[in-house]
Amino acid sequence: MGKDKYGLLSEVGIGSRAIALMEKAESSISGSLAQVEKTAEYNQFKVIHAMQQNMLSDSHFSSTTGYGYGDSGRAKIDSIYAEIFKAESAVVRHNIVAGTHAISIAMFGNLLPGDKLVSVTGSPYDTLKNVIGLEGRTRGSLAELGVEYGQVDLIGDGQVDFHGIKEAITANTRMVFVQRSPGYCWRRPLSINDIAEIIDYIKKIRNDIIILVDNCYGEFVEECEPSEIGADLVAGSLIKNPGGGIAAAGGYIAGKSEFVENAACKLTAPGLGGNVGPTLGQNRLMLQGLFMAPHVVAESLKGAILCAATMQMLGFKTNPEPGAKRSDIIQAVMLGTREALLAFCRGIQKGSPVDAFVTPEPWDMPGYGCPVIMAAGGFIQGSSIELSADGPVRPPYIAYMQGGMVYDAVKLALMKAVQFMSDEGAIMLS
Ligand SMILES: *Cc1c(COP(=O)(O)O)cnc(C)c1O
Repeated sequence: MGKDKYGLLSEVGIGSRAIALMEKAESSISGSLAQVEKTAEYNQFKVIHAMQQNMLSDSHFSSTTGYGYGDSGRAKIDSIYAEIFKAESAVVRHNIVAGTHAISIAMFGNLLPGDKLVSVTGSPYDTLKNVIGLEGRTRGSLAELGVEYGQVDLIGDGQVDFHGIKEAITANTRMVFVQRSPGYCWRRPLSINDIAEIIDYIKKIRNDIIILVDNCYGEFVEECEPSEIGADLVAGSLIKNPGGGIAAAGGYIAGKSEFVENAACKLTAPGLGGNVGPTLGQNRLMLQGLFMAPHVVAESLKGAILCAATMQMLGFKTNPEPGAKRSDIIQAVMLGTREALLAFCRGIQKGSPVDAFVTPEPWDMPGYGCPVIMAAGGFIQGSSIELSADGPVRPPYIAYMQGGMVYDAVKLALMKAVQFMSDEGAIMLS
């Protein structure tokens, strides 16, 4: 980084100590950054190859309305995703409104009354508790439909409990749910190797069990996706990794044709499935975002690594550690006090391109049982492939930072955060 020779950083209130800290952190992580770029290069080639194999052309960027019959772009996006994910088929739609929706239709489409769903990665992401019908949240849920649920918690710092899995799988077990990223939880993400082990183990017990992987935040972090190593279904959000920060909304499901089509029947209606749906001008954005995604994921990973290195130098515990192998884009930092958590998130907000002047306040988000502070200054609402940071305001005051389409922007936001934490007396910069 330059020495602020133009005075730009001091103009926005970033002092020389914050700059020096960032420089020191950055010089300590060059090996990790190079590794991230290597993975991105491979994934970039993979994405382009899939587009070429499918003879993508600008005619596919055109739009349909109404039923969306004959939308060649829609079909093209599905088959490009299928190719990248090494899956039989995929359904990629702007009207899958979130990752939760994608996972929900994958579950509802493939589970019937009397079936059992088993989560083998502990308590699922908060919004999925409504889908499954946990903690009394039953309206419209799988539980209301008569689907049974079992859960096998992770042990230690996120090890899979194989013995527990064996016990939880009963004759009526129809689906196993695997969550790759910890979400807002202090554990390591499952790697593709970990997921492969789970899949092999379960398929040996019974190979007709459908394995659904919640792939949110995991796409393009490693060189292969869960469907390539045997997952029957994978699902995720387009305002996270695979949308590349360009897709305006959406979600995807990829996997075995039969199961993908079952999910699509819940998205639309039986008999319609994935064969209808107007694209309303979204095709180009989805494709362009997918083209950008490997690079954008790498930028956010580099930002996450810089965050870990910086915060560790300031004495905070981070998860993952700066040099750890990664399988998702989330960076957790244990800030220890309410003041430090608020200052960190507010500092990130101050360094964002949009709404930098806004001061985030903790609020009672449904389902958390404590106030949550959220910093986000992106172009697409709720997009978390764009830089965002949030954390439940309770001990041990962990901030979860993720996304960042441009590494330099993450670096700026981190300098802002460090400076603001110092200004607020939450840290001492030496
Ligand atoms: C983001 C996320 C989801 C889905 O969240 P949406 O906000 O509905 O997109 C599910 N699981 C994990 C692990 C996630 O990170």
